[in-house]
Amino acid sequence: MSDKKDWNGHEGSVLHSVNDFDVIDCELCGFKHIIPIPSEDELREIYKHDYHVKEKSFMLEHQLEDREWLDSINDARLETLENILGKAGSFLDIGSGNGFLLSQAKKRGWTVKGIEPSDKAAEYSISQGLDVECCVFDQDCANRLNKFDVIHLGDVMEHVPFPSATLSLCNQVLRPGGLIAIGVPNEYTPVQKILNKDMDVRPWWIAPPHHINYFDKESLEGLLSRHDFTPCHSEVSFPMELFLLMGKNHLDDPKLGRDCHAMRKQLELNLTKSGNRAFLNKLYGCFAEAGMGRTLLVIAQKK
Ligand SMILES: [Zn+2]
Repeated sequence: MSDKKDWNGHEGSVLHSVNDFDVIDCELCGFKHIIPIPSEDELREIYKHDYHVKEKSFMLEHQLEDREWLDSINDARLETLENILGKAGSFLDIGSGNGFLLSQAKKRGWTVKGIEPSDKAAEYSISQGLDVECCVFDQDCANRLNKFDVIHLGDVMEHVPFPSATLSLCNQVLRPGGLIAIGVPNEYTPVQKILNKDMDVRPWWIAPPHHINYFDKESLEGLLSRHDFTPCHSEVSFPMELFLLMGKNHLDDPKLGRDCHAMRKQLELNLTKSGNRAFLNKLYGCFAEAGMGRTLLVIAQKK
């Protein structure tokens, strides 16, 4: 498919069509997203009752099982932020989920606050002694907040209808010189394209209406630059699609999916616990160089 489509000024080549949505390479936005873009009201309903409860019913259970691994990832992320910022300051996690990153940040001396739209996830975080507000990060929410040294958005920007609007609100609550850290799925990677185009594997990474936007390093850094943020660090996670190339098709097999996840988790824990995080970073740097990595983290500084 390469026909162009236009929706309210969002125009670009159609890359895939799934469940009445088209993914376009939007020329207006500079990144790929679905059209039509769901309204704020539609999304509010989906996330308040649906996301952690139905779509991700085992999320907390799996996260507790993964706790040691998640803590090691969160520690590395916080250490990177502390090195760039020069201290542990005030930290706002937008879409704080079950609060694991906030807990880890608090332990390391950060002053922390979370914003989480899912009532179940927010309730759990509050039960763990964290300052978390259950709401959507919109203009009203931003107006209530103080200014922060760091804003973190993990698995958020792929879900928001208008990423530019979200970044403008972030700018409002970030101190000059402060950092924004954005983690998103890394999409339309070379391996995804090979699997889909050359091996007839369905485009499993396209998930409307939950996933609206589909970023790669170039498009995410470009978006940040257009909002007066200077990208200063990027990294990727293990390219899970390699398992598909190795014949482990876990797309419709949650048990196999967990097995594959356990293998990459073990690889990372083995290298981290044996004091070889620097080698792990070098290895993942090679994946990033090749455009690979399941998720992408970009840190940028406010001018
Ligand atoms: Zn657009």
